[in-house]
Amino acid sequence: MDKDWDREELEKKYVNRMKAVTIPLNLKFSGVQKILDLSELKEVLEQAEVIAQGECDCRKKMGKCIDPMDGCFAIDDEAIDWIARKEARRITLDEALEAMRRTYDAGLVHMAYYLKENGKLTWVCSCCSCCCHSLSASVRFGYSDHVFSSKFIATQDMDKCEDCGTCVDRCQFHAREFVDEKLVYQKEKCFGCGVCVETCPGDAIEMVKRS
Ligand code: SF4
Ligand code: SF4
Ligand code: SF4
Repeated sequence: MDKDWDREELEKKYVNRMKAVTIPLNLKFSGVQKILDLSELKEVLEQAEVIAQGECDCRKKMGKCIDPMDGCFAIDDEAIDWIARKEARRITLDEALEAMRRTYDAGLVHMAYYLKENGKLTWVCSCCSCCCHSLSASVRFGYSDHVFSSKFIATQDMDKCEDCGTCVDRCQFHAREFVDEKLVYQKEKCFGCGVCVETCPGDAIEMVKRS
């Protein structure tokens, strides 16, 4: 049987200890050329004095998906501890952003983790809903107050949609499904991660500010 999280571990180590916020990439607004926009991520990472890069522990532990493994960043005290254990190396902001471009291409969701007790940023990660403790907790185990959406939400232009299914595969939050070979987009499930935008061949998806 596949390995998976159990509720006791999720609640003890993550759900009751941290909150996670999705960070949107690749914002495309009407009339503006599509670019991979790293500004929100940069803004979050600029809070850090020390950034450490190591291997993704969740995927090492669960092994349900693999590459890329290097989109997990500890911040400040966590970073110093991780480096001291010789499990991570110190990297610059630019190196972190470059790694995050690759994890975006691979379809991973960027998340910032904050400690509940003091609001301190502890990790900035590239996560999947099959292995990650927090995306698993939110998407598969039903802990609805653990992961919070970004300030943005995806819009959908059905006239431009080619029903190719790429966004269905990329959306970790199951906001996109195929029904009778047609795309069905459930806006209320969108966490505003932006992972579906860049790879849409019909240019049918844009991100807008959440109202
Ligand atoms: S939080 Fe995300 S990037 Fe960090 S170890 Fe878990 S899945 Fe990997
Ligand atoms: S990726 Fe674009 S074209 Fe393909 S199903 Fe999704 S919205 Fe439609
Ligand atoms: S539809 Fe899914 S992949 Fe697209 S922005 Fe929303 S949560 Fe992310």
